[in-house]
Amino acid sequence: MSDSLAISCKCGEVTGTLHDVGPDKGDRYVCYCSDCRDFIHLLGRQDDVLDAHGGTAVYQTRVAKLELNTGIDKLATVRLTQKPTTRWYAACCNTPFFNTINKAKPPFLSVITECCDAERRDSVLGPSRGDVSAQEAMPPLQSAKPVSNFRMLSRVMRRIFRDTWSGDWKLSPLFDMETRKPITEARRVTAEERTRLDQA
Ligand SMILES: [Zn+2]
Ligand SMILES: [Zn+2]
Repeated sequence: MSDSLAISCKCGEVTGTLHDVGPDKGDRYVCYCSDCRDFIHLLGRQDDVLDAHGGTAVYQTRVAKLELNTGIDKLATVRLTQKPTTRWYAACCNTPFFNTINKAKPPFLSVITECCDAERRDSVLGPSRGDVSAQEAMPPLQSAKPVSNFRMLSRVMRRIFRDTWSGDWKLSPLFDMETRKPITEARRVTAEERTRLDQA
């Protein structure tokens, strides 16, 4: 079972489509790690994006499923840590969009489902597979459905192999295929900003 799902920022400048997505075409999770949470705080969207325990809902899928339609020049990126994780948002209205790494290869795409058509995302993507970094939830979860990192990573690796060997990694619209770098240069969050976010 799969379908297309529209994505958009809050103000409607940045739009796109996730093609051929569904419960079997990717993995839906809620991530409670402090990096995901800090990113949403950085955008000032904690009140409408995070759940009651500071979780961010995401959908991990293959990079070639993403098409960007309008407002591509409004996309901006930020890196919160030394890790290669690159976080994408629409600068027009601070809507979070994606998490990737800082290069086209290995191909990784996690869509922050806040940007997905709210009326259709549950029926198209299906339920969450569980809670990532459940131990970092704030306030703590009463009944977490933990996902092991091993299980999550093995599913990520399977997609990376498929996108790499098929050549589909070149279809990601988020990277310049000549330089293999993101189409927009990432801003680095300063140590002071990070401390402020951690205290928020
Ligand atoms: Zn916008
Ligand atoms: Zn996270």
